[in-house]
Amino acid sequence: MLYRLKEGGYAAYLVGGCVRDLLVGLLPKDFDVATDAKPEQVKTLFRRCFLVGKRFRLAHVHFGFDKIEVATFRASASTGLFNKKHYLKSKLGMVMRDNVYGTLEEDAFRRDFTINALYYNIADFSLVDYCGGLDDIHHKVVRLIGDPHQRYHEDPLRLLRAVRFAAKLNFAIEEKTEAPLFTMGELLQHIPPARLFDEIQKFFLFGFSQRALMLLQKYQLFQWLLAQTAHCLSHEPDFIHTHLVNEALKDMDARFHQKRSTSPSFLFAALLWPPMMMLYYQYQGEGLPDVSAYEKAIAKVLAQQGRQVAIIRRISLGAHEIWHLQHQLLHRGPHASHLLQHKRFRAAFDFLALRAKTGEKYEEIVHWWEVFQIASEEEQQVMIAALPAEEAAKRSKSRRRRRRRK
Ligand code: ATP
Ligand code: MG
Repeated sequence: MLYRLKEGGYAAYLVGGCVRDLLVGLLPKDFDVATDAKPEQVKTLFRRCFLVGKRFRLAHVHFGFDKIEVATFRASASTGLFNKKHYLKSKLGMVMRDNVYGTLEEDAFRRDFTINALYYNIADFSLVDYCGGLDDIHHKVVRLIGDPHQRYHEDPLRLLRAVRFAAKLNFAIEEKTEAPLFTMGELLQHIPPARLFDEIQKFFLFGFSQRALMLLQKYQLFQWLLAQTAHCLSHEPDFIHTHLVNEALKDMDARFHQKRSTSPSFLFAALLWPPMMMLYYQYQGEGLPDVSAYEKAIAKVLAQQGRQVAIIRRISLGAHEIWHLQHQLLHRGPHASHLLQHKRFRAAFDFLALRAKTGEKYEEIVHWWEVFQIASEEEQQVMIAALPAEEAAKRSKSRRRRRRRK
């Protein structure tokens, strides 16, 4: 890939996260390339290449299942006069368009953190470091390039990125880079909800979510991502369902490090669980029947969250299903074998196991499902027949009630 650009007569460097991660001994999540070729020129070199982004025009080059982002060197256009077609700032100072091309050196200075502005030159296998990134990697410091206030104003997502890299790499945040984190969180309201959604996933699905949450809370930034959950964590720490959040994150971090899959639906089901249960109890207290109170709470919590962060539909639906299945797992009956076939069964079961682990009295039921999953058909029938009578009675009562209502 890099060689094709080079043979085409262009400069090509690995840059950003992959260089940084390799230097600290982590496996890079993806690869970013910087070049002096314009996006259109990159496109002529690769068969499966797509130009994306308006604010920031990029070439995506696909290789099998992998995708490499190729960005053309850009200048920092925050000072000086530039054509609106290429560079645009909102009234708040946010950069809306950033397509002023420049040199490698200019490209380094428009990047966010020094540790993200290191370039690996394939022509001579050297590292190019204009901003002192290598030193900061060595001292384990996250430091913004340029004036922190201005850089955060230009793109408030950098507030979150500072925290994310500190959590991921276990680095300290340099003083001037850190101070605005306490005061500028409000600006995150101006970030498009879809961008926040991507960022949340990067925060919580890659093995450092507990440290990430701790730092987000420390800087009071969590409320700008998941206001309802932030409220529960700070105002209802003793609520039994609040405990599940930390336990779920701990579990997901462990899964990531064991190279097992982590699911965004499970993540959102866990993060939004305490506010959902709070609402559920509230609606129950207002006299709504059990099932309606639960469904209403689910709908309300997801709708509220959707206003802050654009959770894609497939994922919010997944969270909804995991919650919905909780009821069915708790009320075991003849439908149990059928439930095993549900595509979210495993996630819902893991979720129930977490609930038991965080203090809800469901150990016996969790154990029952554990055995049930590996039992033969005959054994399953026996297990169903041996279920406590009151559980079966509850089920048939509610079914009868439903039938009568119909
Ligand atoms: P990761 O891929 O682990 O999230 P990354 O550093 O590679 O980390 P990307 O979002 O892939 O992050 O961006 C690639 C590079 O582009 C960054 O390393 C940084 O140099 C630059 N960059 C990304 N976002 C910004 C931003 N908001 N402001 C300035 N530079 C940015
Ligand atoms: Mg990257």
